[in-house]
Amino acid sequence: MLEAACDARIAACAVRRPSDGTLDMEMGLALAFDGIIIGAGVMGASAAMHLASAGMKRLLLLEKGPGVGSGSTGKSSACIRQTYSHYEVCLMAYEALQLFKNWQDFTGLEAPRANFVNCGVLFLVDKDDASVPKILDIHRRVGVKSAVLDDKARLELFPDVDFRAPPAHVVGLSDEAACDVVAVHEHEGGFADPVGTAEDMLDVARRLGAQARFKARVVKILQQGGRIAGIEADIAGQREVIHAPVVVNCAGPWAMGINRLAGVSLPQKLVATRNQIVSKQFPETLRGNIPMIIDMVNGIYCRLEANREQIITGSVREEDEREQVADPDHYNEVADAPFREEKLALLHHRVSTFEARGNITSYAGLYTVNQDDYHPIIDRAPLEGFFPVCGFSGHGFKLSPVVGALVAQKVLGQWGRVTSGVPTGFFNADRPRLTTNWGGVIA
Ligand SMILES: Cc1cc2nc3c(=O)[nH]c(=O)nc-3n(C[C@H](O)[C@H](O)[C@H](O)COP(=O)(O)OP(=O)(O)OC[C@H]3O[C@@H](n4cnc5c(N)ncnc54)[C@H](O)[C@@H]3O)c2cc1C
Repeated sequence: MLEAACDARIAACAVRRPSDGTLDMEMGLALAFDGIIIGAGVMGASAAMHLASAGMKRLLLLEKGPGVGSGSTGKSSACIRQTYSHYEVCLMAYEALQLFKNWQDFTGLEAPRANFVNCGVLFLVDKDDASVPKILDIHRRVGVKSAVLDDKARLELFPDVDFRAPPAHVVGLSDEAACDVVAVHEHEGGFADPVGTAEDMLDVARRLGAQARFKARVVKILQQGGRIAGIEADIAGQREVIHAPVVVNCAGPWAMGINRLAGVSLPQKLVATRNQIVSKQFPETLRGNIPMIIDMVNGIYCRLEANREQIITGSVREEDEREQVADPDHYNEVADAPFREEKLALLHHRVSTFEARGNITSYAGLYTVNQDDYHPIIDRAPLEGFFPVCGFSGHGFKLSPVVGALVAQKVLGQWGRVTSGVPTGFFNADRPRLTTNWGGVIA
């Protein structure tokens, strides 16, 4: 593949402002690469790191924003848990967690910025939830360290967390939801800085020779002879054509538009979806360990932020993941007042020693929900040289350090910086629909 890429570089000539998507081979000087990645979120950065590690020498990443993390990544809650409905996804999260834990060794960077916080994860479910034995079985097979907490362990480990049944009057709860809670504790996991994580991975790629250009919006996917030939981009107001035999689409909520530019349609329905977060000051008086909590009973998740100065809360309810956004460049980036009120009330129930006072802020981000089965597509498209890496729904961040390794397998037929045990075909577009235990948000 690399040899073929070099041949293409010699043969190709860059042309400014072509009138259509085909290449004019007669004019211009060659500005050509072995591969182009679209998007500097965690997925583009991971793809760049692993492709460069696997030996792709002339690699270019293009990002329309001014810096790393301009899309989903910059708004991500960046929670890292390993509980999933499928062995393969749990394995991928487990593998990624090992990398987060050993981030400095993994990246080789002197002062990495991912700042992984290993606070553990509490997964709270209804006592009648049939998924618990399945979760524990998958954990055991993968090697995830976890246990169901009894009353004594709950009190010792998490004195500030209220494990009791939510009172029926708590906003948004039906009577059926007022139940006893089973607490599955993942001993390891937590959260990281999402932009720092992407920056670190891109730094590794750059040290290996990859280049990145910002304020560079891909506006055309070029094809020749039925295969990828490069892209046309608007770079700081100038149109430029850049040749490459490989284009990797890591454009997050914009990925569907890039697929359309390439004339590629996937079997899955991918939708840019608005997702809201509430952030509140966290009182200094609470000194116990607050883990990352996924509360399936109250329908929220939460974790600490900014050196324990804040706590952020989002939803795990499928009904909060339905607001489709037609143009990812324009959407309401502030959370709605009813959302803020409801989620804070639920948070106050779960962390009952939490004071009512404190500044509240909120925001909304976008991610691409795969409405078919909530899992990503990491595949080669029927258009030769085009690789969609998209549809990660609300759980892509934690998988990202391993995603690029799968991309390197797809593109070059070899692993990048790590070898994964996840079958490379697991996220193929033509897979059978993957089921989930709890609906979309927790896939
Ligand atoms: C509010 C919120 C909370 C989340 N919480 C979690 C969580 O707790 N745990 C978890 O694992 N995941 C979480 N996620 C999901 C996770 O953040 C995403 O799956 C992940 O960030 C997707 O990364 P990406 O690189 O695919 O996309 P993005 O980060 O969106 O990157 C795509 C990039 O492509 C660029 N781009 C788009 N079009 C073009 C173009 N034409 N030319 C050049 N560049 C272009 C964009 O500017 C953008 O920077 C959350 C997401 C959100 C929004």
